[in-house]
Amino acid sequence: MEIITAKHLNFAYGNDEVIRDLTFSLKKGDYVGIIGQNGSGKSTLLKLLLGLLKPESGKIYLFETPLREFRAWHRIGYVPQRSGIFGKAFPATVEEVVAMGIVGKRKIFHRRSVEDQKQIDEALEVVDLLPMKKRLIHELSGGQQQRVLIARALSGQPEVLVLDEPVVGVDALVQKKFYELLQRLNKELHMTLILVSHDLDTVAHEADYLMLMNKGELCTCTKDMIEKDKKHYVTL
Ligand code: ADP
Repeated sequence: MEIITAKHLNFAYGNDEVIRDLTFSLKKGDYVGIIGQNGSGKSTLLKLLLGLLKPESGKIYLFETPLREFRAWHRIGYVPQRSGIFGKAFPATVEEVVAMGIVGKRKIFHRRSVEDQKQIDEALEVVDLLPMKKRLIHELSGGQQQRVLIARALSGQPEVLVLDEPVVGVDALVQKKFYELLQRLNKELHMTLILVSHDLDTVAHEADYLMLMNKGELCTCTKDMIEKDKKHYVTL
């Protein structure tokens, strides 16, 4: 099954063309890295795929449904960039943050059903944070907060995870564990992963294939292609 399909997408902010005639498709179980330098259009592409921006032309299908008819947003989990979202003033516990991932069903501070609680606990178990569920989110380390955000995305039981620069600002050991978790989600739970990053080296190592954004255009390549001709892809 095709999870995401984009056909001849074009998008500009005013006269600034950011996405040019972009076509690709992702299948169930794919682990793809979207790579590109700052300003190359990665976030814009994500916003188009999530329906937050409207393309000037071209078509997007999610789970083989045209985007404008798509309603099953629970099938897609989104993990935002972590940087500074949980300051000291953020009053929620770990499990309350994860509960926010059970989107659109109930209000956050309503009493949770037994089924909700089960989904929340399972998601926290996957990221190895169940014992910390009553802690305040801002008391956790950066890497732990990142895992909470993944648990939040997982609590909605999505089939796809979209991760936007998920390990910016976390240390090497945390990054390593984080990528191991993604491998597990992909290989054991057959989750489709879209990992947006500017870190070509790491993502080339982790993902099954890469899409390189360059001046709005896309170059799809595999690890082997990069290994053979690294210079070309790094400077792309
Ligand atoms: P990336 O995520 O790869 O860093 P972006 O998609 O954020 O790239 O940005 C692509 C280009 O679009 C950049 O030149 C950026 O300055 C421009 N851009 C991004 N958002 C806006 C906006 N809201 N209005 C105008 N230009 C924007």
